[in-house]
Amino acid sequence: MREIICILCPRGCELTVRDEHSEPDVTGHGCRKGREFALKEIESPTRVLCTTVKTAFPEVPVLPVRVSAEIPKEKIYELMELIDSHTVRSPLSCGDVVIPDILGLGVDLIATSSIIKSII
Ligand code: SF4
Repeated sequence: MREIICILCPRGCELTVRDEHSEPDVTGHGCRKGREFALKEIESPTRVLCTTVKTAFPEVPVLPVRVSAEIPKEKIYELMELIDSHTVRSPLSCGDVVIPDILGLGVDLIATSSIIKSII
């Protein structure tokens, strides 16, 4: 049995997954999405990572970024190490690729702001 907090909406339902049988049983969900979240969470949890990356521009020391699609949860620390070692050196716009194909996952790290272009 596993207990999981659903993170899909502010209600934060407390889900219980019993997987002693072939078909896992989910309880505690306030809607259909919660059941789907619980089943995915026990099989292969994924997350969308939003963070910042440092830049070479003193006026804009960090740039907001996010992954272009969900990534495996267990890859987040490895990805944060990659992001920590990266420096943006060109004036990217919102939606531009910062790091392509991160960790070989087929997902890009993309800028979520054009702040460098608007200031530099
Ligand atoms: S189960 Fe549904 S209602 Fe409950 S937190 Fe998840 S998304 Fe929100």
